[in-house]
This record gives sequence, C-alpha cells and structure tokens, in this order.
Amino acid sequence: MTQEIGGFAALGIHSAVLAAISAVGYEEPSPIQAQAIPVILGGHDMIGQAQTGTGKTAAFALPILSKIDPARREPQALILAPTRELALQVATAFETYSKQMPGVGVVAIYGGAPMGPQLKAIRQGAQIIVATPGRLVDHLSRNSALLSTIQFLVLDEADEMLKLGFMDDLEVIFEAMPESRQSVLFSATLPHSIRAIAEKHLREPQHIKIAAKTQTVARIEQAHLMVHADQKIPAVLRLLEVEDFDALIAFVRTKQATLDLAAALEAKGYKAAALNGDIAQNQRERVIESLKDGRLDIVVATDVAARGLDVARITHVFNVDMPYDPESYVHRIGRTGRAGREGRALLLVTPRERRMLQVIERVTNQKVAEVRLPNAQQVLDARIKKLTNCLAPLVADAEASHGELLDKLIADIGCSPRALAAALLRKAANGQALTLAEVEKEQPLVPTSGPRERSDRPERSGDRERRAPMPLAEGRARCRTPLGARDGIAARNLLGAILNEGGLAREAIGRIQVRDSFSLVELPEEGLERLLGKLKDTRVGGKQLKLRRYRED
Ligand code: AMP
Repeated sequence: MTQEIGGFAALGIHSAVLAAISAVGYEEPSPIQAQAIPVILGGHDMIGQAQTGTGKTAAFALPILSKIDPARREPQALILAPTRELALQVATAFETYSKQMPGVGVVAIYGGAPMGPQLKAIRQGAQIIVATPGRLVDHLSRNSALLSTIQFLVLDEADEMLKLGFMDDLEVIFEAMPESRQSVLFSATLPHSIRAIAEKHLREPQHIKIAAKTQTVARIEQAHLMVHADQKIPAVLRLLEVEDFDALIAFVRTKQATLDLAAALEAKGYKAAALNGDIAQNQRERVIESLKDGRLDIVVATDVAARGLDVARITHVFNVDMPYDPESYVHRIGRTGRAGREGRALLLVTPRERRMLQVIERVTNQKVAEVRLPNAQQVLDARIKKLTNCLAPLVADAEASHGELLDKLIADIGCSPRALAAALLRKAANGQALTLAEVEKEQPLVPTSGPRERSDRPERSGDRERRAPMPLAEGRARCRTPLGARDGIAARNLLGAILNEGGLAREAIGRIQVRDSFSLVELPEEGLERLLGKLKDTRVGGKQLKLRRYRED
C-alpha cells in the first residue's frame, strides 16, 4: 500500500474502507476530509461548510461506514439529500466505499420510482438509507418506526433542501429518529434558517470550514470551460488543438484518471506521461527531467505526485478535475507563469461544480472567463498553421536536397507537381483531417445546458420530486428541447410532432417531462442521430423544436 493511503489510514478509517479507497485510486484526503473524518469518527455532531467538488461525500461516508455494524441488519445511517440525482450519487458513493464490507447494504429512496423495491431493500436489512425528504416522509407515514434505529444522520446540501421547501418534512423526520443519534450537516452557505436547524437539532456541533484566504494570481490568464464529466478527455484533446503551449501539466484526481488521459494524449501523438503516487520516486524524477528537457510536453498528474514539480517550460495548466479548494487551485496554477513568463490556466467545470467556480473567483478576486470549445473551422485553422510552421523552415534547402527525387517521382507516377504535393500532404497529415468537411465529422461534443436548471424558489409540495430527471429505461436516450410550458407547450404537442415527423410508433417514445423553460423526451437510443436529423426542422407551436441529446453528469 502506498505511503499516500497512509494519509487516510492515519485518520482512523476502517481497513475495509481503506481497501476500497485504494481501489478507486484516491491518494490522500481532501482538506474537508482531513478535518471532518476525525470529528465524525470521534462521535461529535458537526457542521461542515463545503460545496460539491470538495470531496464532502467521502468526508461523511468514510467515517460512517467505519462505524456501521454490518451484523445488525437494520437502518443505522440516514443521509438526506435535496434531489434525486444527489441521492443516487451519494448512494453510489456509499456502495463504492463499502465494496469490501460484505453484509453492508445501501438503499436510495426518492420519488418517481415505485416504493416496493425500496421497501424490500429496507426489509432485507440495508443499514444505510439515502433519501430525499418528500419520499421518506411518505414511507414514514406507512411505517412510523422506520427510523427508530438510526444512529447517524447527515443532512447533505442543507441549504438546497430548505430552498426546495423541505423544512416541514425535515421536522417530521427529526421527530422519527432517536435523540441519541449523531448528526452532521453539510451546507455551502449558512443562512439563518440553517443555523436555526443546527441550534435545535444538533448537539454542540463542531464547525468545520476550509479557510479561504484571498490569494493573488498575477501573470496567469485564467479561463474555464463547462463540460459534462464523461466528455472531459475529448474536450481536452479539442482544446489542445488550438492552444499554443510549450509544456503543459494537467491535473486530475485519481491514479486511473492520470493513466486514462495520458494514454489518450499519447494516442493522438502528444509526448505525454502520467505522474501518480503509484509511480516510484526515481521514475517520477525521470518524468520531471523529461518534461524539463522537452522529451515530454505534457504530464498528467495528481496533486500528490506533482508536489515540488517546478519546471520553467510550463506555459499551461489544465485543471481537468476540479481542485478541492481555492488554495489548491492557486497552488496548481502557480506551476505556470514561472520565471516572469506569462502563463495560461484552464479549468474544466461540470454543471454540478458551478458553485466551486464561484468560490474560486471570490477567493482569487478574479473573474475566470468562460471559453467555448473551438469549432471545426478553428481546429482546421490551427492544424494548417502548425503545418505551415513546420514546412516553412524546410523549403529553403529542401529543393536542393530532394528536388531531383521530386522530378523523378513526378515522371514515374506521371502526375502534376500539385498532385504529388497534395499526396505528400495527405501522407504527412497521418490520418489527421485537413478539410473542413472531415474535421466537422470528427467526434462532436455535447454542449452543457445553460445555468443550473433548478429554480431557487420553494416548490409546491409534490412538484419538487419531479424536478430531477427520472432514471432512464434501458435502450432509451434522454433528449432536450428548449421549448417548455412558458412557450405554451404541452406533452401532447411534443408527442404529436415527434410521432408525425419522426415516423415513430407511439410505444417507441418514453416519458415526456414538460418544465417551464425546457422539456425532456425519452427516445430510442438506436437510430437516435438519424431521428434527430429528421426532426431538425420540426416546429411546434411555431417555434423550432431543436431537440438534442441531453446528458447529466
Ligand atoms: P464531492 O465533493 O463529494 O461531490 O466529490 C467530488 C469528486 O471527488 C467525486 O468524484 C469523488 O469521487 C472525488 N473524490 C473525493 N475524495 C477524493 C480523494 N480523496 N481523492 C480523489 N478524489 C476524490
């Protein structure tokens, strides 16, 4: 086991949980984890001020799993989350971290799905319940003793829960749990309403917050790109096409991610290598030396492995995975702009991490401008520019050395000099597209949707559980149109248009969810691109349908 996992071991986490963390490739605790884990293991109530992206889920999941008794087959921990997506995400995290703990079960409880399987999982002895408040209250109204054995409670994204109008449900849930439980509350902000809950329902909570001093980051030009989590690698490859860099360091969170990205870069012909905590010290030093002397141009590193890395050639830092806190961000981007040179830092942000971006902007006191992925024309221009730069220095003496050969080839093949030059270009391109049509055909990336599509105002009861998209049936893809209720659209209008113009059978179309400013439609995955092509010019209620594949991260 590497020295870095020692960082977790020293916190007192159960060995089975340590083994699971090691398997997912975490190298060291994030700051919120380093602070919160000992407090939770020590049995204290706690208020943690942290947003998505800081590693807060593991900050409570790891100590709770360390304290669970797998032999007792009854609910022991309850995690409350504001939305279905977050509940599912947290439940998945618990499943991952409990992989080496036979007998530990996790159940996710949320609206919009049948209650039967959820009840069955509880009856089968799941110890961890991850729930949205609304549906949990429904369960409680049928079985008031459901939470009577709970020992650990976590309120995750407590401020979001209150914004969504769950205050009354929370009170019902508090009442249904033993007072002797340990309670932990995580919230990005601590408005009065959250403090009031803590005052009433937590016992002498310890307050944990990652100190955020204002930091200065001069000389470094910063930008961010919104991207879905599963599209980070293609996005990086696309960005690199147009970035003029000398050496670059890309930061990711896990060992596996260093390997995946380095492999993708190498496959595209970049001189790239991975740097992570599993790589022996002497090998790490060799990688850094290679970056210094130009045998490597890109290093993909975790924070741990990049410690002490100081290479003046670095012109670019790509934060492919979000750093855990603003200090770490400032530290990472400080790897460029060395020796008085200009540097450029780029941050990839998934839709759930927008808040973290705002925190970074506040702490660094700088706006981190949004950039978009380069379009096909920009990619092509950059490729042509590179080709020009590479050929220009050769023309001076290439004619003297290779002119005769050229004449011979023209004669032997029987073609024009232009035809031969074009053939040589194609060969030099080595499979890389050099026409607009070809570049356009290269993998298109799915744009992220606009600002977080979740309203801040409290919702009517019953409405709120429907906010998050429902889980997809197999073979279905979710598509989105910017037309919604405010455009006067109803589900039957969308259904009619898609049936008529797409030539589909009724049963091929799944759920249609009409929201205020957009709608989601479930369509068959098979032949989806063709179908979307057919619907390209479809109008509903006089407005363009603009149906696109929709991905959540
Ligand atoms: P969260 O803030 O809980 O949403 O976590 C954000 C992401 O960080 C998740 O994808 C986690 O898998 C990842 N993560 C959490 N803790 C660590 C760690 N110590 N090392 C590497 N990745 C982590």
